[in-house]
Amino acid sequence: MPTCPNCGTWNPDDKVVCWRCQTPLPKQEPRKKSSKRRLFLGMPLWVWGFFLLLLLLNFFLPLILRWVGM
Ligand SMILES: [Zn+2]
Repeated sequence: MPTCPNCGTWNPDDKVVCWRCQTPLPKQEPRKKSSKRRLFLGMPLWVWGFFLLLLLLNFFLPLILRWVGM
C-alpha cells in the first residue's frame, strides 16, 4: 500500500497517482525473493543434482558399455 509522498494519503495498490492530490506515486517494487542458494538437507541443490547424475551414470555406464561392447 503506497502512501502519497506529497500528502501522506494512503492509496490502493493499483493506483498510479494519489487519489487526493494526483501526485504520481512511487512504484512499488515487488521484493524479489532472496536469491540465496536453496538448500536441501544442508546441501545446495546442485550438489544433489551432481550426485544424482553420478548415480545415474554409475547405473547406466555398465549397460552402455555392455551395449557398446557387443
Ligand atoms: Zn497525495
